[in-house]
Amino acid sequence: RIAIAPSQLQEGQILLTKEQQHYLGRVLRLREGDRFIAMDGKGKWWLSQLTGEQARVLEALLVETELPVSITLMVALPKGNGFDEVVRCSTELGVTCIAPVLSDRTLLHPSPQKLERWRRIAAEAAEQSERSFVPTILEPVTFNTAVTANQTSHRYVCEARGEYPHLNKVLNSISDEIVIATGPEGGWTTQEIENAIAFGFQPVSLGRRILRAVTAPVVALSLITAACEV
Ligand code: SAM
Repeated sequence: RIAIAPSQLQEGQILLTKEQQHYLGRVLRLREGDRFIAMDGKGKWWLSQLTGEQARVLEALLVETELPVSITLMVALPKGNGFDEVVRCSTELGVTCIAPVLSDRTLLHPSPQKLERWRRIAAEAAEQSERSFVPTILEPVTFNTAVTANQTSHRYVCEARGEYPHLNKVLNSISDEIVIATGPEGGWTTQEIENAIAFGFQPVSLGRRILRAVTAPVVALSLITAACEV
């Protein structure tokens, strides 16, 4: 499989870039007439055939690997390269949109190169897990700003301390969209939780054990996919 930009598709032909020609010819060792799948990262896949240095579309494919709900994951940026793993795992699990957020306890300002790197990781993970859609990764903003920007009716913030309902218990009514936020190593501040609640987020628990900042989003997404895929 290779990812192509919409502009590469012209009248049934795929105008391959030099890198794609190299990948198909040298890495995958495809020859003239061999078939491969081209995908646009937005839900469209085409069975394609190598014709010289270019390719042609044989047929559009129907791919149904996406979840029936749209999931936005807000994650407070963990230290180091922990976010790479969050992007990889959450893409495999079917996330729709990943919103890296800056929280009061982790005021890391990632470089533009990091954002590019996360987008690349998401594209590779989408391809690996045979998804028809590459999740969107938003520019980082503060958590307080992110919570004001979302009006989805199902909004949850995971909080490790306190007597909150388990995420499992609140998932039975999800219809088409859900937003879930997980905090940094040091946890959300009281002000962040209060602000999120004021903007319609419901605090939820992921169980009695304290999960690491990179584990919590994966657990939350696993519970959501289990609830909406069966
Ligand atoms: N030191 C923090 C504390 O005591 O609250 C723990 C933070 S935890 C390492 C990182 C984030 O993962 C939390 O902010 C929360 O969003 C999520 N998290 C971890 N364990 C959780 C649990 N059992 N229930 C809900 N959220 C959890």
